Amino acid sequence: MEAQSRPEAINDLRLPLPTEFGQWNKFPPELVRETVQHMDFEQLTTFRSTSRIHDYETNKVLEERVDAQLTHFGLEKGRIFEIMTKRHAFISGSVALVVLFPGEAFIPGDIDFYVGEEYHDQFVNDVLSSTKYTETPLPSGTTTTVLFRDGYPLENAGIKSVKWLQHAEKKTKMNIIQIELPEVMAAVFQFYSTLLMNVITPVGVGCGYPRLTMKKAGVLKERPMEKAHKVALNQDKYWARGFDIWPTWTCEPVKRLLAGHKQGDKCCPQQRRTLRTKDGFLWMSFKEDRGVDLKLFLPDIAWLNDPKSIVNDNSHTCTN
Ligand SMILES: [Zn+2]
Repeated sequence: MEAQSRPEAINDLRLPLPTEFGQWNKFPPELVRETVQHMDFEQLTTFRSTSRIHDYETNKVLEERVDAQLTHFGLEKGRIFEIMTKRHAFISGSVALVVLFPGEAFIPGDIDFYVGEEYHDQFVNDVLSSTKYTETPLPSGTTTTVLFRDGYPLENAGIKSVKWLQHAEKKTKMNIIQIELPEVMAAVFQFYSTLLMNVITPVGVGCGYPRLTMKKAGVLKERPMEKAHKVALNQDKYWARGFDIWPTWTCEPVKRLLAGHKQGDKCCPQQRRTLRTKDGFLWMSFKEDRGVDLKLFLPDIAWLNDPKSIVNDNSHTCTN
């Protein structure tokens, strides 16, 4: 991919967080609230651990961001979360990406639900009977295994089927993606870019590659030639939204973003990570009890991103 000229600093409006958080307690709650609203996901997770009040405020802001997206798609949070809980479904794709940023970074074109084979039919029925979504047919001549609504390839991601739905009044679009992997959430780590390795569950939000993602950057995972065009189309979509998807872990912009990262950092491409560990997935619960949430909603899976791309690469060094 050609480097395209877009001013790099434009998205970098991150708040410098003080190393000493004590002073935040002296600020009036309205100011804390206002400040928290401007934080990205990584800042929220850092800030929340500094006091109970911050914990409450950050939870509230994250939940509001999720709620705003669900409302945009004509979904009522309590109801859809109940269905997701019952059927072990989660949200990924552009909706799970946009909630990581303050102030609606872009407007997602559709909402993607992921569900396992065991619960798929029940989940579809639940959605049809309790929301205003109805099924729309796939374009003739296409199959779900080669075409997704946005045109990006889904092979190898363990996808068995895709249903397209549309809201009867709002005309917003929903995809229900059936996953045939033993652990549904493992599909997320087979997506074509690290930028999309994020989830919304009924109990919290997770991000696979926060260090890159918070900088609005992702790395491409697979690029077989025959799929290159579709991937390019989708890359254009994210580029238009202010995100970059870089072709390799070793290209200059990615190396710059990862410079000085430590062994065990959530962005390190050489790091084997597990969903349930603190160092694996940047996770934030809507409520306090992280341990319970993790065991109920996050499977015990491990992933290693794109080992082929970093073998024999002397340029990759983690400090320590
Ligand atoms: Zn590393």
